[in-house]
Amino acid sequence: MTHPLYDRLEEELAQLAESDNLRVLPSAVFGHGYVHDVRHGDDTEGAMLNLSSNDYLSIAADRDLEARFLASLGAADEPLMSASSSRLLTGESNAYRELEALLSSLYGGRAAIVFSSGYHLNSGVLPAISDADTLIVSDKLVHASIIDGIRLSGATHKRFRHNDYGHLEHILGTYAGEYKSVIVVTESIFSMDGDRCDIGILTDMRRRYPNMMLYIDEAHGVGAYGAQGLGVVQESGLLDEVDMLVGTMGKALGSTGAYLICHDVVKRYLVNRARPFIFTTALPPVSLLWSRFVMERLAGMTDRRERLASVSARLRRGLESLGHHTPSESHIIPLIVGESRKSVELARRLREGGFYLLPIRPPTVPEGMSRIRISLTATVTDSQCDRLLECIDKGMRG
Ligand code: PMP
Repeated sequence: MTHPLYDRLEEELAQLAESDNLRVLPSAVFGHGYVHDVRHGDDTEGAMLNLSSNDYLSIAADRDLEARFLASLGAADEPLMSASSSRLLTGESNAYRELEALLSSLYGGRAAIVFSSGYHLNSGVLPAISDADTLIVSDKLVHASIIDGIRLSGATHKRFRHNDYGHLEHILGTYAGEYKSVIVVTESIFSMDGDRCDIGILTDMRRRYPNMMLYIDEAHGVGAYGAQGLGVVQESGLLDEVDMLVGTMGKALGSTGAYLICHDVVKRYLVNRARPFIFTTALPPVSLLWSRFVMERLAGMTDRRERLASVSARLRRGLESLGHHTPSESHIIPLIVGESRKSVELARRLREGGFYLLPIRPPTVPEGMSRIRISLTATVTDSQCDRLLECIDKGMRG
């Protein structure tokens, strides 16, 4: 069957292929920490070490923890596998109430509200709470879900250069007085560069601009940082000064869903106004119970956080000594190679060497900034790290 629409889509896909930016679904089986090519079944021979997941604490890959959780389930009063409707209808469950109560107590009694994912949360919160009297000022590199939220909002939007607080201060100094509310949005650990925002500078600005609120996405910080694993903001001791803190549960927590830590009125308002909260099926209780199971143990996972920090420092040092500068200050370590074609080729070589790594290309990153995003986890050993460095060295030299 032909149609002009199909022709246009085919043409665009051909152009993406031409510029090495075409995406196809991977032909891989993602096991516990390892990846197998689907054509070889789950034969561990030839398995690649998974360095492309966000399972930073190796919780999703932890068979023992998973088994202990499943054994703890017992006979449930509520259906476990599906919520069967949205939270405002019949999807609400004890599992939600208990998870939110736990989050609230961990974050010093602030309100906590759980969304189905970080994407739902970021694309829903900003449009709900902003109006025409709101200015949103975001870091240039914030995640697509935040950008979509800003696009859907009625607010005026300005961007500051990545982590350039002089530029942010200039925007605030020039425009903050013209709006009732100013929301500054950034990430604690940036998803593609692995560098950090400066929470001290941001909270200082918040003290100096009385109508400013601070919205920090900790998708890549929660679990991996902070004495109890609550993120970079906890580590900096400034939890009380961040008005809205986003944590996602699909990354270091090895689960799914996301939460917002906020003022109680914001939570009550979102229940009424955040469309991706209202108009979607609630998470299945089994996922919420697993999130709670993990959250309850997070404070006790210091050894995993320390291991992640140590292997990350080793890889960053190793790359620098090979002459590859990386912006990373965390467990997300990009190797920026420039052209998409180069990143595709290098990723292929690294996979041949036993490391499951993928090229990250536009539009996820700016044109000319294609890269291999190495995402470390707590179970990566020093010798695996050293082998990876050797493989990168060889791969980069062609
Ligand atoms: N925020 C950031 C910074 C992210 O990197 C991501 C996921 N890549 C999200 C939000 C979306 O979270 P989720 O995967 O739970 O939708």
